Amino acid sequence: MIQLMDVYAIAMPMHRVFVHATMARHESDGILVCVDVDGVTGYGEAAPRPYVTGETTGTVLKALASCALNELDALIDWRSLQAVVASLKDLALPKMLSVDGRLSPAAACALEMALLDVACRLHGRPMASALHAAGLGEDMLRPVPCAISAALVVDLSTSPEEMVAHELALANGIKHVKLKVGADGDQAVERVRRFRDLIAPSISLSVDVNAAWTLPQAIAACRQLQGLGVAWLEEPLRPRDWAGLRQLREETGIPLMLDESFVEENDLAAAIDQRACDLVNIRVSKCGGPLRAAGLADTAFHSGLGYQIGVQVGEHGPLWAAGRALATSLRHASACEVGRADEWFPHDTTIPPFQIDRKTYLAPPLSGHGHGLVPGPALWAHARHAFSHVATTPRSALVEAERRVTTWNAEARG
Ligand SMILES: [Mg+2]
Repeated sequence: MIQLMDVYAIAMPMHRVFVHATMARHESDGILVCVDVDGVTGYGEAAPRPYVTGETTGTVLKALASCALNELDALIDWRSLQAVVASLKDLALPKMLSVDGRLSPAAACALEMALLDVACRLHGRPMASALHAAGLGEDMLRPVPCAISAALVVDLSTSPEEMVAHELALANGIKHVKLKVGADGDQAVERVRRFRDLIAPSISLSVDVNAAWTLPQAIAACRQLQGLGVAWLEEPLRPRDWAGLRQLREETGIPLMLDESFVEENDLAAAIDQRACDLVNIRVSKCGGPLRAAGLADTAFHSGLGYQIGVQVGEHGPLWAAGRALATSLRHASACEVGRADEWFPHDTTIPPFQIDRKTYLAPPLSGHGHGLVPGPALWAHARHAFSHVATTPRSALVEAERRVTTWNAEARG
């Protein structure tokens, strides 16, 4: 049974700023959840982003503080990995952890991941096994995980010329590049044109607008992008403008990927119903955890959509490891991002450290049980303990934890 849940907030300075159309990030911002079951610890992580799911560090802490371990434990059958996975699939964690009536997919992600990780460790299995136990078919899953070619993401702080001059992977077999562009459509087209001219025609290229364009801007830009070999355009309009997205697809013929517009099943159903996209970006944190993310990829694929495995900038460890389990296990992904914990942070954040061959951008599956890593000293050095729940936590202690989180957030803001 669950004995303990410890929750930490993590803010770690990054080596360099990451810039896209609506955000510049200097520091990571995440939540670490540690769950102890029968003396074994599992680790989960969330990257709350208000511009993606509406969640913040504060709302995720509040959501997790409201979680009664005894009640949660009663809903999980720990006797086998299959049984745990079935229990977790039945739990509507984003709804169970709702804050002020809003779903909490990032909070759900941290908790689902910690529970799944500890279950895999208890039963001596890698997280990839949990995907098979979750009922995904052979058409979706490789028999065993294998190394994947990771996508290169080029943010707005880097020019195409600088990237080509310094990025070895562009000459060493990389298969996909995602180029971030800004709110000015003409400048975006010029950036794409320069980059396309500099890289091999065999490299697939996508363009991420981060919801910065209006529909008329997008239509004008997409007409100019024709002939530049753009495989798909990611999130061009304000999120969930289903009619606008459909019009953009139909008028310009450019394939569209949803990111900020797509968090959960209802978004996917609406996008399919409205014929608003061709692909979706599956990111573990915004999609509510590794099991829910895998389920959404399965639904998307069997609805005729493509999908990418994406990341949030500043993932510390458990998040990129769970994403790696998905990326190395799932078939059909149009592209896989794997994160840059080795480049964002001055020290290794996990044991074992982040794994990728930066010369080829080949990313191997992690070995070991669970998602395959534990937080390292550098991560603990930037982890601020928020609260603990123990299995016998009475209701009065939950109220006290919520009070502590409220005070903690007020201090953090002040
Ligand atoms: Mg995106």
